Amino acid sequence: MLTAFHTFGCTQNNYETQKLRDLLLDCGHVAIEEGEPELIVINSCAVTASAEKGADEMAGRMRKKYPEAIIALVGCYGEVLLRGGQTFKHADIVLGNNKFQLIDALEKHLAAPDAKCSPTTTRSLATTCPPAATHPPATTDPPAATLSSSATCVPAASQSTAALSKSAPSKPYANTAQAFLHIQNGCDSACSFCIVPGLRGKSMSAPPGRIMDDLKRLLSQGYKEVMIAGINIGLYKSGVYRLIDILSEINAIDSLEGIRLCSLEPMSLDAGFVRGLPGITKLRPHFHISLQSGCDKILALMKRNYTFKQYYSLITAIRGAIREAVGATAAISTDVIVGFPGEGAGEFIESCENIAKCQFSDIHIFKYSPRAGTIAAGMPNHVSAHQKSARANVLEGIKMQACYDFNNRFIGSTERVTIQKRRPGVPAEGVTGHNIKIAVSGHIPTDAGYVDAIVTGLGKSHGSLIGKSII
Ligand code: SF4
Repeated sequence: MLTAFHTFGCTQNNYETQKLRDLLLDCGHVAIEEGEPELIVINSCAVTASAEKGADEMAGRMRKKYPEAIIALVGCYGEVLLRGGQTFKHADIVLGNNKFQLIDALEKHLAAPDAKCSPTTTRSLATTCPPAATHPPATTDPPAATLSSSATCVPAASQSTAALSKSAPSKPYANTAQAFLHIQNGCDSACSFCIVPGLRGKSMSAPPGRIMDDLKRLLSQGYKEVMIAGINIGLYKSGVYRLIDILSEINAIDSLEGIRLCSLEPMSLDAGFVRGLPGITKLRPHFHISLQSGCDKILALMKRNYTFKQYYSLITAIRGAIREAVGATAAISTDVIVGFPGEGAGEFIESCENIAKCQFSDIHIFKYSPRAGTIAAGMPNHVSAHQKSARANVLEGIKMQACYDFNNRFIGSTERVTIQKRRPGVPAEGVTGHNIKIAVSGHIPTDAGYVDAIVTGLGKSHGSLIGKSII
């Protein structure tokens, strides 16, 4: 089948799309980015209402544009729908985080062809894979440190366990040096606004042996750089291994050129991580460390388990470690929620002042979105939508200044760019070592995953760069 993939959400979801793509390609599917698909896989996210809306709109557009195509909605939003017993009118197949059962679900769907297009049957959820929630967690679900591949009937969480212990070499994406290397899933924290632990289960870490096998296979397929993927990788724990231990093992592989980290949670990073950083010589100097709010009262309501002062000393220590190691400034970017219940004007101002102090390289701004089943959804003093938008605009101004101050220093410098996307007739898209998006014009060999480029200016809204390749 000609299959198109669309991904919403986090690095973990991007990794899982990469893995779904491999599974389907192994079954003879052909991945397409243009043209008419026969199967459309939407790997969804439920972290905010707008993420869910994005998947809704995507599926609706696809249904209109390709009425004959089979649409499969999988991932966290699928999990929310299945657990709520809700229907999803645009999809023929709905799976949650048991998304790796897609092959079975597809076969079941194709075995009942009449179910495909009839509005009633197909979209009734009875025909799709039973929702993960109907399977009580497998009692074999071992604590994170001792994962095995013995699970047979795999509810979502253990399925991740199974996925974690099975090797997952990936088929090369065209023309990029970077691949996802998956090490962890789930989360043990309980932030009051967050739906993730409920959807992905407790933290599970992949055995070091499996991670190193995957890495060697990715390198044998021509990848040169890995993005370490997981939900809360700071929680990585397998036997005596912690995150910094597995990073130094990965770093030791000669043919690997670069290591990037997915989002980090400050409460999961210990002193050992910071102390070990100088030893990870292939680590790109960028850290995305979620702050969520710069106000201690709101951090407490969010159950983030740190104060702004602790967060600030952590990023200061990381900057110091990177400067010591490579003499360069580390880029620190972050996530911030505006309009959390209880955030009055005073709390917001305090948050903005502290955020400005951090000299972030980028700030991802989210308007608080109540998630069913979370503590925060039941809290008093919810902020109006109008107020949330007004605050997001104020923070957008702080973000643009921060991006300008950080990115401006690179004009005239030569940067090693990891190519991520290229289309004929337009500059190639990539990221620098500091994870700044850059559009590179000029000649780039077709098979190059990297290119050296001289930075010639700032892109739109200061959040990106423009450059010219040096060949
Ligand atoms: S650390 Fe908090 S915000 Fe991050 S996934 Fe876990 S519960 Fe959610």
